[in-house]
Amino acid sequence: MADAPVGPPDPAVSPRFAGPETFARLPRLDDVGAAAVAVLGVPFDSGVTYRPGARFGPAAVRAGSKLLRPYHPELDVHPWSVHQVADAGDAGVTPFDLIAAIAQIEAAARATLSRAERLITVGGDHTIALPLLRVLHERHGPVALVHFDAHLDTWDIAYGARYNHGTPFRRAFDEGLLAADRCAHVGLRGPVYGMSDFDTDRALGFSAISTADVARFGVDQTIDRIRSRVGELPVYVSVDIDVLDPAHAPGTGTPEPGGLTTRELQLILRGLDGLNLIGADVVEVAPPYDHAELTALAAANLVYEFLGLFALRK
Ligand code: MN
Ligand code: MN
Repeated sequence: MADAPVGPPDPAVSPRFAGPETFARLPRLDDVGAAAVAVLGVPFDSGVTYRPGARFGPAAVRAGSKLLRPYHPELDVHPWSVHQVADAGDAGVTPFDLIAAIAQIEAAARATLSRAERLITVGGDHTIALPLLRVLHERHGPVALVHFDAHLDTWDIAYGARYNHGTPFRRAFDEGLLAADRCAHVGLRGPVYGMSDFDTDRALGFSAISTADVARFGVDQTIDRIRSRVGELPVYVSVDIDVLDPAHAPGTGTPEPGGLTTRELQLILRGLDGLNLIGADVVEVAPPYDHAELTALAAANLVYEFLGLFALRK
């Protein structure tokens, strides 16, 4: 892009608690026309199995992003100064028909990627990862998924429904969207229905780094294991905010005690520098259960980590 990127309003003139109500007060994609990275909201939670509320996630994460500043010292990068970053607004998604909603999310992601090189999506419940992976698969072929979540999300069916927030990666596997034996879960914990849940997941070709593994072996070894798992393949990172401990992210639909700290997850994401990252999402932020914006702030800062990673690969 020849012109200098359009950034947020000067905080010395317009304080950061003022508008616009976009991610980090960045310009709208409609206003700049095209961008290197777009942040798309998907206000959708019709796929949840427990507490609803993630439809309000994108608005809360945008509000939580206003305090972000333009320089990331740990990554030594200016995430929105080296190239254009823009807010693509929210996808228009029906709350009444899950299958129609998935098609709408797919269309919105495809339309956004016609004007932006990279996409970071803010959910919304985890169902949204399936249509996002479909669109990325069109462009990149099978992707190595790095999935941060307390939960497997590779279950097959819930209440007779094949599409919900517990099944997106099973469906992605069925549709051939994922690179065989190159995907990893990170942060698994909590009770499941039985050992067969893990056996099925392993048979699909996923590897698992549990929260206990991260605690025992540390951030650096976690990073090494992720990096060797995905190699040079196109990598998609999906972050279910419930991978964080409820102390760090109470505002979510299926909280599981004993999770990662926000700091651990930030450090792990920074360790993905240099991978062939093609897209990311942060999902399952449910503001009705949040306190003191803890969850929205954590999610906004995780999006900032992805913006930093993309800026480094510019
Ligand atoms: Mn989860
Ligand atoms: Mn999930």
